[in-house]
Amino acid sequence: MNTSGQVPQGYKRIGISACIMHPDPSRVVFNGRRLSYIENSMAEWVFRAGAVPVVLPHTAQRDCAARLIESVDGLLLHGGVDLAPESYGETPLRPEWSGDKIRDDFEIALVQHALSTKKPILGICRGHQLLNVALGGTLYQDIQTQVSGALVHRCAERYNTLSHDVDILSNTLLSQLYESLFKKSANKNLLTARINSVHHQAINALAPGFTIEALSTHDKIIEAVRITHGPYKHQFVLGIQWHPEFQLEDECQREDESALLDPMPIMQAFMDAVSQE
Ligand code: MN
Repeated sequence: MNTSGQVPQGYKRIGISACIMHPDPSRVVFNGRRLSYIENSMAEWVFRAGAVPVVLPHTAQRDCAARLIESVDGLLLHGGVDLAPESYGETPLRPEWSGDKIRDDFEIALVQHALSTKKPILGICRGHQLLNVALGGTLYQDIQTQVSGALVHRCAERYNTLSHDVDILSNTLLSQLYESLFKKSANKNLLTARINSVHHQAINALAPGFTIEALSTHDKIIEAVRITHGPYKHQFVLGIQWHPEFQLEDECQREDESALLDPMPIMQAFMDAVSQE
């Protein structure tokens, strides 16, 4: 708000794909109703970059995704529940990894409309995986089960205080965003940085058009991707497996917080792309 009490016009509108809480008769509030929600630090991250977060809820309307994308300047894919293996041509290895096909279909439609209308897309955690699936890639249903020798990438007790190193590769967008850190790195071909880790699924087969931006140092799990070639190579489409936004509102005690990668350059790069559209 400015000194005259008016809210300035012209804020960019960032659509955040809502998490879906499906009807649950045991719930005390909104008994048996479907809810659409976002985790608040995602809204905080968008606000800090000077834009306005807009929640994009799934509805039964046929043109729901198209209308929602039409109304926003960029698409931010939120984290949350597993993807359904059916979304990438598999069946669940265990019932608890069945995911949410309704949300997958809705978000894939959001991605398709954002791509066809040339709107920038940033995917976080599940959103990073969703981007890969939407463009034809696959996932590991469970890292621990399917990747021998892998790190623990999600821990219920430690949740977002769990962290590990990633190698940011040279000649990537992330290497530009963290150029000052790169210059200090002993190895000029990669920058090893610390990030949080709250996922048990990960990218398996990389979708056409994507380039890997960062790999988990210990086990080479793909932790960041970007579209650099193919029909959408001129669009901003970035996936980040970690949760930069969690660092903004964390009230958890974390010994190594200062060592984690700064979350704002990623959001600022997304906002720069949004501003150029
Ligand atoms: Mn990880």
